[in-house]
Amino acid sequence: MAASLFQKPSAILFTGTQFPVSISKDIPIESSPCIHFNYHFRSKANNQKKGLLQVKATVGAGTQSVSKSSETKDLDGNQLEKKTKLKILIAGGGIGGLVFALAAKKKGFDVVVFEKDLSAIRGEGQYRGPIQIQSNALAALEAIDMEVAEEVMEAGCVTGDRINGLVDGVSGTWYVKFDTFTPAAERGLPVTRVISRMTLQQILARAVGEDVIFNESNVVDFEDDGDKVTVVLENGNRYDGDLLVGADGIWSKVRKNLFGPKEAVYSGYTCYTGIADFVPADIESVGYRVFLGHKQYFVSSDVGAGKMQWYAFHKEPAGGVDSHGKKERLLNIFGDWCDNVTDLLHATDEDAILRRDIYDRTPSLTWGRGRVTLLGDSIHAMQPNMGQGGCMAIEV
Ligand SMILES: Cc1cc2nc3c(=O)[nH]c(=O)nc-3n(C[C@H](O)[C@H](O)[C@H](O)COP(=O)(O)OP(=O)(O)OC[C@H]3O[C@@H](n4cnc5c(N)ncnc54)[C@H](O)[C@@H]3O)c2cc1C
Repeated sequence: MAASLFQKPSAILFTGTQFPVSISKDIPIESSPCIHFNYHFRSKANNQKKGLLQVKATVGAGTQSVSKSSETKDLDGNQLEKKTKLKILIAGGGIGGLVFALAAKKKGFDVVVFEKDLSAIRGEGQYRGPIQIQSNALAALEAIDMEVAEEVMEAGCVTGDRINGLVDGVSGTWYVKFDTFTPAAERGLPVTRVISRMTLQQILARAVGEDVIFNESNVVDFEDDGDKVTVVLENGNRYDGDLLVGADGIWSKVRKNLFGPKEAVYSGYTCYTGIADFVPADIESVGYRVFLGHKQYFVSSDVGAGKMQWYAFHKEPAGGVDSHGKKERLLNIFGDWCDNVTDLLHATDEDAILRRDIYDRTPSLTWGRGRVTLLGDSIHAMQPNMGQGGCMAIEV
């Protein structure tokens, strides 16, 4: 939705630049780009590297009315036009909510983002780890705000220029290799990157503006009276606006209140994630690899700064717990798989391993009603296998 507010990016030329950064355990992933190449398909408008500031959003306090604002414009000589700006309320300051807020703001709308917990990592971001932002979403971001897109690309680790694909989990032999570079280059799209979720959200939040992001603002309800929509927060505060966008993730309250309760669907797989200080011998040639097996699979990806992110999926009922530790369980499940998998598990600290069950939702063709609509995981949550959930929240 955010990108569709804009024209498609125009045709562009490819220029490649190498980004020489040495590998160091001491460089936090939030501030260090990848050791690999960093591709820019457009001329750079901004070479200044901004520091990653901590985002301090406004905490909504007291009853506040967020109503339409007017501005007076000087047009041809003395003629003055009174223009009314629509006020868009956005529930959720995750990837989708922030990109939409940025797009709407750039188009001249007033925006207010209500985020229940802005403490660095939230929504899907609470599971930490980087996110792969593919060419389609990077191009959408470029169309929305070139400066922000460039900042995101600078902070990301390019994986789209290396071999990526599917291998056999036990032997490690390749089934299929994906070439995502050529199609991107041919179409003038940025090359796929991986970026820390925290870094991405900080860049977006800063671009949207701290003054319009209300922290500790848990949206519990809304009222659409036909002329305006009112958001109701858990603390009782109410805010009026012209439109409401529910970007509050897979467990969206806005969706529940708009269309009624509907259970999310368990995928049948639980997912462990981890991040390790580890540089595989083939780092120069391989970006990410999906290791396949029977009722289990494993994904590893270079995320830059000498770190590898991995995901281990196992088919089992939801709600399981690890009484003997997650690492021990994973070594039991994946212990006889190839070295690329077991080396990564051994290199990961127990407390760097997180676990959650994977859910998605049955697609719906109706995304909104009246003055309220939905965006991102709140309406098209998907399993992580395509690496497109966040990209779609940016692009659609
Ligand atoms: C293991 C895994 C790996 C993934 N890898 C990728 C990948 O590589 N690439 C990719 O594109 N996608 C990936 N995804 C999917 C991606 O994480 C999601 O699709 C994406 O985060 C959706 O963004 P969103 O803004 O819609 O929702 P979220 O990121 O969930 O953000 C929702 C926001 O709303 C806030 N919120 C929730 N309820 C309320 C409320 N009531 N009031 C106020 N605020 C509220 C939350 O705190 C949060 O900030 C992956 C998913 C998983 C599970």
